[in-house]
Amino acid sequence: MSANILIIGGAGYIGSHVNALLRERGYKTIIYDNLSTGHRDMVMGPFVYGDILEPDRLEDVFITHKIDVVIHLAAKSLVPESLTRPLFYYENNISGTVNILKLMLEYNVKNILFSSTASVYGSPDVIPVTEDVKPQPNSVYGFTKLAIERMIQDASLIHNFSYVVLRYFNAAGASLDGNIGELHIPETHLIPRVLDVAMGEEPEIVIYGTDYDTPDGTCIRDYIHIVDIADAHLRAVEWMLSQKKDKSGIILNVGSGKGFSVLDVINTAVEITGKDIPVNIGERRQGDPPKLVADAKLIEKVLGWKPRYSDLKTIIKTAWKWHSGRRMKLLKPTVRNKILSK
Ligand code: UDP
Repeated sequence: MSANILIIGGAGYIGSHVNALLRERGYKTIIYDNLSTGHRDMVMGPFVYGDILEPDRLEDVFITHKIDVVIHLAAKSLVPESLTRPLFYYENNISGTVNILKLMLEYNVKNILFSSTASVYGSPDVIPVTEDVKPQPNSVYGFTKLAIERMIQDASLIHNFSYVVLRYFNAAGASLDGNIGELHIPETHLIPRVLDVAMGEEPEIVIYGTDYDTPDGTCIRDYIHIVDIADAHLRAVEWMLSQKKDKSGIILNVGSGKGFSVLDVINTAVEITGKDIPVNIGERRQGDPPKLVADAKLIEKVLGWKPRYSDLKTIIKTAWKWHSGRRMKLLKPTVRNKILSK
């Protein structure tokens, strides 16, 4: 089935993979992105530069194209930053989504896929965590995502549109050919930081706490391959387009169901890269739950989705191919020079 899909925030890490897969499957996509964390070089197909806090600019896209589905990925998404810049997070994430939903209603767009996060769960008592566990976010970031989930649910009931909310666990890895991957400036995430050390760009990886109540004392996360995440989006879009009712809605975890510690990640990276990765022990980072692992049975049942690439070795192998290859070429020359001159 062909449909026009507007990917808001489509130049980022997740959006660029989602866009690539949808286009490969014959969908027409349009990317709207303010390039605050995304990269123009990662976008295939039509691109409109703009911010979700600029409704007039966004409206032009709805006027120019008949949109069937909105995929909303345009959020600020760092837990520590959300704790130091709360109003920025509330404004961008929540007000920005109000703008998107109002335009969808005005232009009669009946489907939205919203990228949420496992951060809505906070530090759950029971692992793996199912979708019906009461969300208790312990960061501004997690709270803004939960508020948006509620906003979408409330609006859908009254205004008759379908939604899928995907609660991602830890997105990781790169495309299998190494052509697109993760590129945050500055980088805060564990796997790319570990690979920065393997590349010799950083002297050591600091582990944020080794005194957690976990088998090796470091935090446990559910790392999910970006290609599997893209596949979840494709299936979610197809699910919405195939619904008979206007207002079908569902919230789904996207995780592998397996947990790995920070030390597991570092050890696997040493094995895959064959490089030395010096480690230092640091303080705990504010807002970090000790363990976060998905129960992913519901998404398998509803969308027939199963992770195919989310074993830690494949994740790190693909991330390494990208990290040591095309990523270096795409880094802006000034940033690259700074890294290389360290
Ligand atoms: N982490 C770490 N050192 C780093 C970056 C991350 O020890 O330089 C840990 C972090 O405390 C968490 C895990 O790695 O337990 C994953 O963090 P990341 O920022 O990649 O994702 P998050 O779970 O915060 O979404």
